[in-house]
Amino acid sequence: MARMITKHPGSGKAALSIDVEDWFHAANVSAVIAREAWDRCELRVERNTTRMLEILEACNARATFFVLGWVAEKCPHLVRAIAAAGHEVASHGYGHELVYSLRPSEFRSDVLRSKQYLEDLTGRPVRGYRAPCFSITEWAIPILHDVGFDYDSSFVPTLAHDRYGQLDGMDAGSPVVLLRDGFYEVCISCIRLGKRGIPWGGGGYFRLTPYLMWLRGVRRILRSETPYIFYIHPWEIDAGQPRVTGIKATNQFRQRVNLQRCEGRFAALVGAFHWIPLCDLIDGFNAGRDCPQFQSAPTG
Ligand SMILES: [Zn+2]
Repeated sequence: MARMITKHPGSGKAALSIDVEDWFHAANVSAVIAREAWDRCELRVERNTTRMLEILEACNARATFFVLGWVAEKCPHLVRAIAAAGHEVASHGYGHELVYSLRPSEFRSDVLRSKQYLEDLTGRPVRGYRAPCFSITEWAIPILHDVGFDYDSSFVPTLAHDRYGQLDGMDAGSPVVLLRDGFYEVCISCIRLGKRGIPWGGGGYFRLTPYLMWLRGVRRILRSETPYIFYIHPWEIDAGQPRVTGIKATNQFRQRVNLQRCEGRFAALVGAFHWIPLCDLIDGFNAGRDCPQFQSAPTG
């Protein structure tokens, strides 16, 4: 598929995103915590998200919050607080199901339900979507565009990960891509190795990698004439979250590695750069600032 790859716009800009879900929504624990059990789990997302809002405010940073519809229904005041603090409220879908596990009609219902609810809460258009576990697929893109999103931020241009989805024609060196007229993909950052790269955008990789090494990687990406796109979940700064037993060792590791260090590291990272929400990155591309140059991507 031909892609319009944008060269240089947004270079040197650091965009921050937070996927607002709770510890029991993570795919790492889904094998033993069924969605019917979510209502019985301890709700910790409000405390953790509020702590993140405090960290952002202290550094005068703005971010995009991809809020899960299920969380928004439980904590509508939290969504209003995010918007009132000047951040972008975007959608993480409603039920946190992997996109490629749904039929297109089910996916459409899921994203519409969350988008409309978040817009009712904030009174503002919801422009961005992030797929649960980065499980985006080609057929989902026209649906997202059709229901009124301006961008998706769900693709990690890395080598295979067991849960990540796929989009054709993407390049780790050009993280913002015009997929269709008026609709962008904003990839999660990777340290480039050819067209793919080492994940350097957040999550378990951020918790696992020594902080100073992570910082050097972020600076390297920002120097390479591309924007940097970071993500984190509120449960990643919560060392007190319940320990889930009966899951695979790899998932236990992904869920818990360095939780106790993460809040400090996140605060340090927020203080180290000037952060903007993803909508500002998109608006910069749309406005043609930063000398945009468009070219056709190779097919494939
Ligand atoms: Zn998620």
